[in-house]
Amino acid sequence: MKDKRAIIIKDSKLQRIRNNFRSLFASAVNDRWNRLFDEMGKLRYTQEGVRRPISKFSADELVKFRDLQKNQNELTGLLNRSICSCIVCGKGERDMVYNKPYNSWYCTECYGMERRRALSKHRKGRYIEDHSKTFT
Ligand SMILES: [Zn+2]
Repeated sequence: MKDKRAIIIKDSKLQRIRNNFRSLFASAVNDRWNRLFDEMGKLRYTQEGVRRPISKFSADELVKFRDLQKNQNELTGLLNRSICSCIVCGKGERDMVYNKPYNSWYCTECYGMERRRALSKHRKGRYIEDHSKTFT
């Protein structure tokens, strides 16, 4: 993918379809995340509903629990970095701009704000300058 790519839809009907697809995708990811959470709950609690500390997990249970956590984190990362939501404000019903150095999508408003900041002369510091370069 290019370093920068804007996906802009002007037709309101197409925007609505796009937004519905994004919402559907986010719902599917959230459903999967919740199923993983429920699986973790089976390890965390006894059948009587008593919470079990992780220190009481067997080696196999601990491996399974960490695997479930890892899968949750991956799902969260995928959704946060997808075109379905802005990495800054989290909104998903806007036109988006991809910024390759951060492998993230920004809504046009947040991207514009980052770009204006990047072009201002008042920002100092290596990390801020490195960050700003990706928006110019
Ligand atoms: Zn945004």
